[in-house]
Amino acid sequence: MTEISPGLSRSDEMMDLTGESDENFQSGMIDRLSLDGDDVHEMPDDLDITEENQVFALFMKDHRCYDLIPTSSKLVVFDTKLPVKKAFFALVANGLRAAPLWNSERRDFLGMLTITDFINILKTYYKSPLVKMHELEKHKIETWRDVLHSRKLVSIGPEASLFHGLKILVQNKIHRLPVIEPKSGNPLYILTHKRLLKFLYLFMKDMPMPSFMHKSLEELRVGTYENIITVTEDTPVIRALVHFVDHRVSALPVLDESGKVVDVYAKFDVINLAAQRSYNNLDVTVKQALSHRQKRAPGGVLRCFLSDSLLTIVKRVVDAEVHRLVVVDQEDRVIGIVSLSDMLSRMVLKPFQD
Ligand code: ADP
Ligand code: ADP
Ligand code: AMP
Repeated sequence: MTEISPGLSRSDEMMDLTGESDENFQSGMIDRLSLDGDDVHEMPDDLDITEENQVFALFMKDHRCYDLIPTSSKLVVFDTKLPVKKAFFALVANGLRAAPLWNSERRDFLGMLTITDFINILKTYYKSPLVKMHELEKHKIETWRDVLHSRKLVSIGPEASLFHGLKILVQNKIHRLPVIEPKSGNPLYILTHKRLLKFLYLFMKDMPMPSFMHKSLEELRVGTYENIITVTEDTPVIRALVHFVDHRVSALPVLDESGKVVDVYAKFDVINLAAQRSYNNLDVTVKQALSHRQKRAPGGVLRCFLSDSLLTIVKRVVDAEVHRLVVVDQEDRVIGIVSLSDMLSRMVLKPFQD
């Protein structure tokens, strides 16, 4: 395991959680916007509706990945010879969600290790609480990658635009994009939807607000409103893990017996099984698994209504520092899910969708 920037004690994601990272955004870059990233010009006061809708796209095209890298952050790299189990314990110990994978023979980064990989391993090898998962005990990262035919590293350079970074995240349906310095080959940072939206939000007050931001979710249909995958409090954790993998979703609303949403079980919560060393019994219920959670969102489930505007939900999700809101009706029944990827896609990649 290699730690880049040794001596720094907190991860980028942890800084995001404390909200202290705002000061770490490189400052003084808001007063310029460009159409294609090269052609930099002043933002006029009297934009027509077409230009106004593009404001966020232009902003993201005019800022580089380098601009949102904190002045200090921790990044951990794993050698592919490391046993997978140790790697997940190391993620927990460092308060991280993901790490780039280094192959020392090829002297190259091969891919990423994320909580989704931990979930895939558990889903593949778990049989019952009585049968030990020898593969989890014995496999090295490289063995696991061969079993899964894991994908090659998708990365970006620090000079690439934030627009490009977002496009890569969305098109590849991934949540972690390492920013790699092309000359040295050093990874600098791991770009996420959370960081991108927070960065955009920080500068939003200085931009003309596109009219679609005042429209409701009902008008815009941002998010997913069909085939919402949910669990109940009694669902065994192993079944929740199967849902994560089979439906490629990052969280499951948890319903009580009357069908009201009472919690959220996110992929992030699965790492707790490594923290608690409790992954040998995945027959426990989702409710039991969540009872160990250290930090719960104040007010319980972070939700919204179809009548809320896109601006309202963006504010809510940035303040709460979560990856999605659950869309509910007046009875707290789930109607949909609106994730950061849905919001950013609508605001930046598809500003003309109305
Ligand atoms: P999570 O939501 O658990 O952080 P992702 O959705 O980003 O994880 O990861 C899904 C799968 O894609 C995992 O197997 C992970 O290792 C892989 N992956 C994630 N990011 C990258 C990347 N930048 N390059 C290659 N593979 C990646
Ligand atoms: P990540 O930062 O990896 O994207 P998430 O935002 O998915 O992580 O989850 C972080 C924590 O917030 C988890 O404990 C999860 O259960 C909780 N959480 C996520 N979304 C919601 C929500 N809509 N309401 C309440 N808690 C949530
Ligand atoms: P995410 O991985 O959270 O960025 O979401 C990817 C896509 O899946 C988005 O369009 C979400 O609206 C959708 N989605 C997220 N969670 C669920 C879920 N539990 N059921 C159905 N769709 C979901």
